[in-house]
Amino acid sequence: MGERNSYSKTDPDATFMHMKEDAMRNGQTKPGYNLQIATENQFITNFALYANRTDTLTLSSFLESFKSRYHRYTKTVVADSGYGSEENYLFMDVHNMEAYVKYNYFHQEQRPRYTPNPFSPASLYYNKEQDFYVCPMGQHMKRIGMKRSLTPNGFVTYSVRYQAERCDGCPLRSSCFKARGNRIIEVNHQLQHYKQKARELLTSEEGIKHRGRRCIEPEAVFGQTKYNKAYKRFRHFGKDKVNMDFAFFAIAFNIGKMCRKTNLKKLKAVMEVLLVTFRCSIQVYIGYLKPNKSFYMKLAA
Ligand code: SF4
Repeated sequence: MGERNSYSKTDPDATFMHMKEDAMRNGQTKPGYNLQIATENQFITNFALYANRTDTLTLSSFLESFKSRYHRYTKTVVADSGYGSEENYLFMDVHNMEAYVKYNYFHQEQRPRYTPNPFSPASLYYNKEQDFYVCPMGQHMKRIGMKRSLTPNGFVTYSVRYQAERCDGCPLRSSCFKARGNRIIEVNHQLQHYKQKARELLTSEEGIKHRGRRCIEPEAVFGQTKYNKAYKRFRHFGKDKVNMDFAFFAIAFNIGKMCRKTNLKKLKAVMEVLLVTFRCSIQVYIGYLKPNKSFYMKLAA
């Protein structure tokens, strides 16, 4: 079973997951695979199957699979907020990819009526040189330590802890925090840096263009796959066979898409040339055979 905590008896490689189609409306889990695809102009350029249902944990491995297929890393990554984690941002940064990858709260931040919570650590003033925060009451929050945590992928994240000196009697205490003692905040500076970078990219002219295209890229492919072609479940058991199953589907899907996207006039002209060439070659062939017909007749006799 490896790192999984469930598996199907009919397909031991499949893991129980919540499906988008929940006909019973009871959150029932079913054996399946987490299929990740990459698309460009609605052509499937890469795919991979995972036993892990969390999309965030699949991105770096998926980008590696792109490299093993094309012998290079992709230059640009456009993905939704389900993929915006420190680990993924770091991976894309190290491999020089432009990460148009949203983080949680990105959509909320973009709303016209969005007003940031003045008590959240992201809204507090930070003095980088002396490494302290200033709370809404103007108190310095000094660094008191570091917190180390591990993601399910084994990635280590570090958050710095800052504490206010005296919260007793503060008039903003009830709105600021609920715990006892003086307020402590934890800030992951590396993640904040990547979020800022992603925000700048996503709100740039190029980023707006990419965000506009994202909803008509993989989503359209999934829509055509599931509803137009009724490919809602795999026809085989076992990861290898399911891989093959989807690979054939992806090839057929891309050929179909290519035929539809090809300029019909050009295609017609090419077909006519091919047809004329074919007819000419048949005539030449028949003409070539005719003078020797008697020879073959003699041979047959
Ligand atoms: S409760 Fe503490 S941290 Fe919050 S505003 Fe008051 S002094 Fe600052």
